[in-house]
Amino acid sequence: RNTINHFTFTQRDEIGILEFDTPDSNANILSSHALKELDQQLDAIAALEHVRVLLITSAKKSIFIAGADIKEIESLSDPQDASDKCELGKQIFDKLEKLPQVTIAVINGACVGGGYELSLACDYRVAGFADSIKIGLPEVKLGILPGFGGCVRLPKRIGISKALAMILPGKLVDSRTALKMGLVERLFYDPVLVDEASKFGRNILAGRDKVKTRKPKLVEKLLEGNPIGRSILFRQARKNVWKTTSGHYPAPLAALDAIQAMVGKSHAEASRIESDWLGKLAVTKISKNLIHVFYLDEAYRKRSWTDATTPPAKVEKVGVVGAGVMGGGIAQLLAKKNIVCRIKDLNYGALALALKTAKKLYAYQIKTRRMKQGQVDAQMSLISPTTTYAGFGNVDLVIEAVVERMDVKQQVFKELDEVVQPNACLFTNTSSLRVTEIAESTNRPEKVCGFHFFNPVHRMPLLEIIKTDKTSDETIVIAVAFARQLGKMPIVVGDKEGFIVNRILLPYMNEAAYLFQEGIEPERLDKIVKGFGMPMGPLELADEVGIDVGFHVAQILETAYGPRMRVAPVLSDVDNAGIFGKKSGSGFYVHKGKKASVNPKVLGMRPSADFKHSDEVATKRLIYTMINEASRCLEEGVVDAAATIDVGMIYGTGFPPFRGGLLKYADSVGVKNILADLRAFQTQFDQQRFEPSGLLQKMADSGVNFYA
Ligand code: NAD
Repeated sequence: RNTINHFTFTQRDEIGILEFDTPDSNANILSSHALKELDQQLDAIAALEHVRVLLITSAKKSIFIAGADIKEIESLSDPQDASDKCELGKQIFDKLEKLPQVTIAVINGACVGGGYELSLACDYRVAGFADSIKIGLPEVKLGILPGFGGCVRLPKRIGISKALAMILPGKLVDSRTALKMGLVERLFYDPVLVDEASKFGRNILAGRDKVKTRKPKLVEKLLEGNPIGRSILFRQARKNVWKTTSGHYPAPLAALDAIQAMVGKSHAEASRIESDWLGKLAVTKISKNLIHVFYLDEAYRKRSWTDATTPPAKVEKVGVVGAGVMGGGIAQLLAKKNIVCRIKDLNYGALALALKTAKKLYAYQIKTRRMKQGQVDAQMSLISPTTTYAGFGNVDLVIEAVVERMDVKQQVFKELDEVVQPNACLFTNTSSLRVTEIAESTNRPEKVCGFHFFNPVHRMPLLEIIKTDKTSDETIVIAVAFARQLGKMPIVVGDKEGFIVNRILLPYMNEAAYLFQEGIEPERLDKIVKGFGMPMGPLELADEVGIDVGFHVAQILETAYGPRMRVAPVLSDVDNAGIFGKKSGSGFYVHKGKKASVNPKVLGMRPSADFKHSDEVATKRLIYTMINEASRCLEEGVVDAAATIDVGMIYGTGFPPFRGGLLKYADSVGVKNILADLRAFQTQFDQQRFEPSGLLQKMADSGVNFYA
């Protein structure tokens, strides 16, 4: 037995086991300390002639190895130094590859990034079946590429196209898929994983078991086996990356370049190519921003929002009121999470439509072979429609998603208060109404909070939980846990119209309408915003959301916040003309099938077609409007931290992660600069819309950033 800090080596006759156990951590991390120890252990093991099989195992319950130390990656500031560090790590993995023993990575949990690269340096990889097992190389998500030999070894192991399909999107797969793809060679039942791995090692030694060498399929041979095929393959892959990233994320493109440049090179040359690329990427602002977002994600996934410590029971039965766009989506999500759902609407027409929508969402699951028809039928049977409150007496909680009208919501809450059990929470999905007012219609305001999903429910990860002055901590704990049970990212915010995401996004959409009114071409406007990194242009988004829906919310916000949110007159004209966006066939664009062209009717509604300002001015007007409103949310205490706003905007609107978040971006521009531009816009365009918040002025005066 030989223990250093991170690794313990034990021996059972000819089997050696090197167990990884990062001290004081839930996860095994390949920090430089751990790597140094690994190096020493490997030197010692190489000399042990009587050890013929080496298993690398983990002492952690559901993690094999979580990868390299992200703090160390974050601290890299010199490309050459970064590349050299990477080479050092790789030399250790090369040592592992050259050990005289049969080496086997025994994957009992998450095996990602550097962890999977370590496995690739072993002769074999075996894994269990547990759900916690996720295998892959997600480095691009941090703005870098796999730098411990992943780009060198994976294409050799599973072929170039399959390796690209894993590395470029940073995909993680479960162990069954990993086996199918050739990422691991054997699966064993989890409780006996180490024993079976030992047996497997012995059998390999004795020649009783053999892992078949991979035979590339004909298409693969044609594409990968010759220069012309390969150049087609890389060109296509590059095109796909551009399509999904619009060039905003350099890491997947760099990984492509690196893997292409490695073809025909020696192991040492290929390794150096990889390290050099890692060096270049790791020092970029984009990588630092993505790491910032990674930390935000980790922290907010676990964050507790109250002092309460008792975790609430799992939710099993939910009532949904309102079977429209949102109610239908919510019902499907509940079913998908195996939660029984009773859904009420005024008539069966709406309910039938909601069930049809849910089925459609499942159709995609079947088409992509994620689910079988039997599973879908079983889940669909969890949704039962009703036009009365029958069945609401025994639900754990209710989500209300009826029309956005205070009188209707209050009536529904009054009725719910009478029919559901006294301890059940009542949640509202309102996007812009005051939750406090809705709660007033019940005798249980402490059990009422906002539970704001984003559209489409199945795709948007954010859930805004709105706490009124009366909402109890216990209700917040239930809401937060329930949001996580549904796989969503919850943020808890205060009860003011629009909460935070819509309150910040709507003024931006409104500003886009003003720009349109001033004559900017819709396509130009949408293009510059996508150029900034937003997933959609604001006018495309308006068409998608529904111009009537946006206009309605914008009006509520104008009433609440006054002239700085005055709705652009053109929006009212478009809405009055019954032009509602995609659902009515046309909005700012005419939608025919998948094609969209600028709508001449809407173009004709604006007073001017002569926009005289630069793309830069347009972008600043849009983005700074959001920053300004975000700072007001902070100033008023509607939200507790800049980080909460950034999580909200990234997960609720797709604000580009490579920018680090809205307020992280503001920091990088400099609050002083933003303030100066807002002041200039006040004189040039509108006094009220661009009036800087008190907080921005204070921050600029004292030289403070949103993030410390
Ligand atoms: P919708 O108009 O598509 O659906 C509302 C449904 O509620 C209709 O089917 C209607 O028949 C039903 N309804 C009305 N009164 C009812 C009652 N008394 N009892 C039962 N059912 C009743 O609306 P939607 O877009 O699904 O929005 C619902 C709620 O979700 C609103 O508060 C909205 O602000 C909010 N929301 C909407 C979006 C979005 O993008 N559509 C996003 C987030 C939140």
